[in-house]
Amino acid sequence: MRPKTRQHLSQNEPLLFERSSPGKKAYQLPQLDVPAVDAVKALGEEHVRDEIEGFPEVSEVEAIRHFTRLSTWNYAIDHGMYPLGSCTMKYNPRINEIVARLDGLAWAHPYQPEALSQGAMSIIAALEAALTEITGMDAVTLQPAAGAHGELTGILMIRALLESRGNPRRKLLIPDSAHGTNPATASMAGYQVENLKSNGRGMVDVDALAAAVNEDVAALMITNPNTLGVFEQNITRISEILHAKGALVYMDGANMNALVGITRPGDFGMDVMHLNLHKTFSTPHGGGGPGSGPVAVKKELEPFFPGPRLKRSVDAWIWNYDLPQSIGRVRAFYGNFGVLARALAYIMAHGSDGLRRATMDAVLNAIYIRKNLDRYYDLPLDAPSMHEVVFSDEKQARRGVRTGDLAKRLIDYGFHPYTVSFPLIVKGALMIEPTETEGKIELDAFIDAMISIAHEVEEDPEMVLKAPYSTRTSRVDEVSAARKPVLRWRPQPPAGKAAD
Ligand SMILES: *Cc1c(COP(=O)(O)O)cnc(C)c1O
Repeated sequence: MRPKTRQHLSQNEPLLFERSSPGKKAYQLPQLDVPAVDAVKALGEEHVRDEIEGFPEVSEVEAIRHFTRLSTWNYAIDHGMYPLGSCTMKYNPRINEIVARLDGLAWAHPYQPEALSQGAMSIIAALEAALTEITGMDAVTLQPAAGAHGELTGILMIRALLESRGNPRRKLLIPDSAHGTNPATASMAGYQVENLKSNGRGMVDVDALAAAVNEDVAALMITNPNTLGVFEQNITRISEILHAKGALVYMDGANMNALVGITRPGDFGMDVMHLNLHKTFSTPHGGGGPGSGPVAVKKELEPFFPGPRLKRSVDAWIWNYDLPQSIGRVRAFYGNFGVLARALAYIMAHGSDGLRRATMDAVLNAIYIRKNLDRYYDLPLDAPSMHEVVFSDEKQARRGVRTGDLAKRLIDYGFHPYTVSFPLIVKGALMIEPTETEGKIELDAFIDAMISIAHEVEEDPEMVLKAPYSTRTSRVDEVSAARKPVLRWRPQPPAGKAAD
């Protein structure tokens, strides 16, 4: 089999420094028609820049092409599908961006007086109300800056509530299918983690849970649907078991893309939860922020919210700082406001029927992928998929090809890889989440690519093991890249000349 060529012009773009040669310029000035003066004499030494050693000298077209070619190395949601499971990388409609960039919103300053911030405050109020309705909880704070930050906020609130009852307790129960941020949060909030094993259907084992809950347990932290993309069918029973022992249930709501408009965590017994606005409610993410991780709670936890809180006076919104039981601020000002504006635009553009439809399409898309690939890839769990599907590399591993190798080959087909080797409880996991924003044509192209790769593994596993072929760099030593990254370029002596 002939692998794709790697001699691709834009993929072989060298460093700008390597294109440099002395005297090349990106501009042309007319000939001087006045006497030349010495820059240092005319301007003074302090205004004249030192020469920068090794500064690249290139033409205009070289500079333009260099950066344009580099920009094509970035995979982006505007370029193609991002099947990364657990991330909900959906397309972000442009209208949200337009709304967030309206002058009055983009230029609003948190130190503006309340009287001049009523519009921004009513956006915050409207979003809090919408998210309260969507989650079925009693109140929402928009302050936390991301999912993990929401987790910490929520668990600190649970600690504060239990403390107010006389005993914060010592332990949090966390299923083995949890996102890594859950145990990290537990430990930051001063709790010990007790791991719960999942059963063969990828759900919490209710008997094991009942045996583990005692007066030492502050809460269960559960993701629903969990990181296997499976809905916890015993969730109501699970919350009853916890509540019977005076413990609470924290729901990691990062997977709400599978539930919005269909069912509400508040209705199935959850006490505290966070949402990822940058996943479910359509803010672009993946580049490190900004995000938003609102926390929704039941009534009894409301006094512990971080402050300030919005309050309605007779005819205006005001900030209330008088919150004696608050856990305190978790972030400056009022949260990542631009993300909040986008989320409200998204919710209002969809309306309640549209949100329900988006959820159903997200689940349908995952099931479509599952049904089309289940002959080619092993399905480790006997449970229905929600918005994402987890395969394992068992079949391909027999030919020596693992999930990471398959993902590298997928790059040659023009797709961003799926999530590799997560969740940890599935050996060799391929975790795929299409989201509702992909249409059938793109899904079919993805499915064709995955099937083609499965055939390649049968016919020529060695070829797959060396993929990708279409990128400038093929395989890197991932351990060295993580431990000893080279982040600084140093001028090299010109080719042919030895360094002195
Ligand atoms: C993404 C995610 C988180 C963490 O959210 P961040 O915004 O990245 O901090 C937590 N739990 C689950 C299940 C997630 O998918």
